[in-house]
Amino acid sequence: MRRFIVAANWKMHFVLEEALNVARDMAKDIKASVEVIVFPPAVFIHPVFEIFKQTHLKLGAQNIYFEQKGAFTGEISAAMVKSLGCEYVIVGHSERRHIFSESDIEVHKKVKAAIENDLKVVVCVGETLKEREQNKAFDVVERQIVSALDGIDLEKVVVAYEPVWAIGTGVAADVKTITQMHNFIRELVENVPILYGGSVKDSNAFELGNIDNVDGFLVGSASLKSDSFSNIIAAFEKAKGVGSA
Ligand code: PEP
Repeated sequence: MRRFIVAANWKMHFVLEEALNVARDMAKDIKASVEVIVFPPAVFIHPVFEIFKQTHLKLGAQNIYFEQKGAFTGEISAAMVKSLGCEYVIVGHSERRHIFSESDIEVHKKVKAAIENDLKVVVCVGETLKEREQNKAFDVVERQIVSALDGIDLEKVVVAYEPVWAIGTGVAADVKTITQMHNFIRELVENVPILYGGSVKDSNAFELGNIDNVDGFLVGSASLKSDSFSNIIAAFEKAKGVGSA
């Protein structure tokens, strides 16, 4: 049975009241049959948990540090986010890899720490524009997946293919590119849900949701408002022929 997931990555947006308003709207608006996960900034996880606890909406953290505890000022552990009610954590988002220079080794350590603390992990992979132009996209994605998941029980893993050049640009990868890469990833991780991320919006969610090996989306900008995020979920459900849409 395929698992379908639509996830919202709020990144570093909102102050408390704004985050709570969006969370309340989502709790009211979203009646999905697919799994829906919201990744708020870490400081808002607890109050959003309070809003979501009577709903089917799930919570995740955008990042963790791989150490269990100790003198790591400013960092947040897997056990901490688990204790706040998170079921998931994103690891290896391209903004972590490229802005904060996170290496494949660190990504792997974070995946391990998450699984050891009974969290499910959304492992983000994807090539830069330069790597695609140099015909290295498949090599890069394979290296990132193999390294992140070395020795990891895949039961708790979700992979998100997010080409760096499509994130936050307003222009998603095209159907052919996504199809090829998701088929390729499917051969590496057979039973793992594979999400697509990169400028997903309500206008392209149906077309992209129709791609066979797209098991859901990781949505950035269009997840900052409940109505656009709900529309994406509805379009995805329609494409997959699930839910009430
Ligand atoms: C993301 O950050 O994971 C993302 C896909 O962002 P956007 O939807 O804004 O491209």
